[in-house]
Amino acid sequence: MVDPSRVWKSKTLPSLPTVAVRLLEIAASPEVDFKEVVKLVGSDAAIAAKILRASNSSYFGVRAEVTSIDQAVALLGTSTVASLALSFSLAQNAMAKGPLAERFREYWRKSIVQACAAEIIGNEIAKGLGAENFVTGLLIDIGHLAMLKTVPEEFAAVLDRVEEERRDLVEVERQLLGFDHVEVSAKLLENWSLPASIVEAARLQAAEPDALAALPDTPESRLCRAAAVASTTGDYFCSVNNGPSLDRLRHLCRAFAEMDEARLHVFVEQVRERVEQAGDLFNVDMSEIGSPADLMSAASEHLAMLAVQAQAASVEAEVRGMAAEMKRRDLEQQNRELRQQSVRDVLTRLYNRGFFEESLDREVERCRRTAQPFAVLFSDIDHFKNVNDTHGHQFGDQVLTAVAGAFEETVRKSDVVARYGGEEFVVLLPSPTEKGVLRLAERLRERVESLEFQHEGVDVPVTVSIGAAWAVPGHDEEDDIAEQVVALADEAMYEAKRNGRNQVSMRGLVSEFERQVLRMSVTSRFSRWLVTKGHFDVPSIAPAILDCQPNDVSMGELAVRYDMLSESSIDRIVAQQGELPGLRFGEVAHRLKLLAVEQVGWLLGQQQESVTDLAALVVEHGLASQHVVDEHRNAYLAQAPLSTQRPAVV
Ligand code: GH3
Ligand code: MG
Ligand code: MG
Repeated sequence: MVDPSRVWKSKTLPSLPTVAVRLLEIAASPEVDFKEVVKLVGSDAAIAAKILRASNSSYFGVRAEVTSIDQAVALLGTSTVASLALSFSLAQNAMAKGPLAERFREYWRKSIVQACAAEIIGNEIAKGLGAENFVTGLLIDIGHLAMLKTVPEEFAAVLDRVEEERRDLVEVERQLLGFDHVEVSAKLLENWSLPASIVEAARLQAAEPDALAALPDTPESRLCRAAAVASTTGDYFCSVNNGPSLDRLRHLCRAFAEMDEARLHVFVEQVRERVEQAGDLFNVDMSEIGSPADLMSAASEHLAMLAVQAQAASVEAEVRGMAAEMKRRDLEQQNRELRQQSVRDVLTRLYNRGFFEESLDREVERCRRTAQPFAVLFSDIDHFKNVNDTHGHQFGDQVLTAVAGAFEETVRKSDVVARYGGEEFVVLLPSPTEKGVLRLAERLRERVESLEFQHEGVDVPVTVSIGAAWAVPGHDEEDDIAEQVVALADEAMYEAKRNGRNQVSMRGLVSEFERQVLRMSVTSRFSRWLVTKGHFDVPSIAPAILDCQPNDVSMGELAVRYDMLSESSIDRIVAQQGELPGLRFGEVAHRLKLLAVEQVGWLLGQQQESVTDLAALVVEHGLASQHVVDEHRNAYLAQAPLSTQRPAVV
């Protein structure tokens, strides 16, 4: 990036000769003082000589020989003489020597093209502006000259990049310098106090065609459009980015001069011819610029190349995307396989302890967010040492595998069963009820007891002792509730051993309030209501309940929806405790006497089981028709058992 003040503070910034400035002023004023013009031109001998020579050149096609400034001004007009004076002084600036000499010549060639193009298109779309079109075309790129003079190295790098990558100059200037020559042109012309219409034309030379079309129809706007056509013609004739320039030229000429392709060719021919004449006048070799046919074929080739590149880029992106997708799938598959290997116990094919602990941590975090309980069962085979000692290790292994299979068959899909160690198995239960935990533990115990083992004709009874523990994670993320619950389940298991083995024992880290509320929440669930009303029996609705994901709606939202809490009560709770998960939210609301225990329980039931989702699942599982389910749902919602029972604030 370049600090633009380096351009503005530079001593090499081009300046406009006083004679030219004064001539432009006179030309722009309504009353032209002929004598003053002659006097001014005559005061600068170098300019006077050049104007005389120009008057006699083919460029103006004056037949009689012009021998005096009086004659020249009379024949060419004040504004043309003024524009010539200006051109000659600029030409002086552009005749640099040194390593950038060719860059200066390029600038000058392009400015002459722009001046000629502006003059010709001006005759069509900005008539009446006379030599102002030519002057505008000549000056709109003055920023280019200013940058060559003030930040030569940086600007040369920009020009090199433009050529290497065949890109748009303004785009590369913005990328490498942070500003562009169009801005510099407009500002410099403004500093020189040139007419506002010329400054505006310079500023808008690269504007979008639509923006130019949207300008009001005034002489100033017409000058802007002529300048845009001139600037684009300059790019088309002189820049490497000629494909897009041709596109833009077509667009502008069609929009502002109603030119079809044939007339566009004529226009280009006219400009090319005029440029040749002007080259003689300003003493610059224009043969660098190709013929109209050369220009057209170079631009068409460039456009074709860009189209191919764009297509190749899109194909490449597609291929890259596909390759990435294939790689991702491969990796996923490999990961799945590796994971399967690393998370399974070799003997029993149950999950291993590592996977259990990972799942437990995840589950605890989920329960912390939703204030739901989780439970762990810890099971240990009774007197297993005896089994091994009496019937051998191999038989012991068979027992272990069979017990593992029995566990796996008995739990739900959403439960995680793992081999914790030797003959110890654990089960993780997400969002259970207290009774549900006890029931599952009891079922597992019974199931193992019912397994029949025989070794060498001898019956081998196998039983397990199971400890269960459950908890609702608190708000404090630092606590070690996962370990506490496992330790508690282990403790309960030892209690079961002490009490005589082949039994279940349960512990809880659940407060009385939590226990009460959780019990309430279960009884108020839609699924429970459907069963108690006799619409379904438990085994038939069980698959739908298993598929039903817990509701994601916050308890506060639900409470407002069911008119149990006002927004201001929610604000009170949040102000005290922050954003709390359901049960904790209910606890605070209860403490503030905003919700009854029953209401908290009911809301929690709603939250844990989406009524809408369960209704849809019942239909999906083919358990009832949409019509019947809708009726049940409406009946359930209509009773909204606790919605009106808001406890009086004490
Ligand atoms: P308790 O009722 O008090 O649990 O008595 P127990 O004999 O089961 O005592 P304990 O739990 O301490 O014994 C565990 C035994 O389980 C010890 C070990 O021989 C056996 N065991 C551990 N891992 C394996 C295994 O992979 N295969 C076999 N066959 N036996 C195992
Ligand atoms: Mg043991
Ligand atoms: Mg044991």
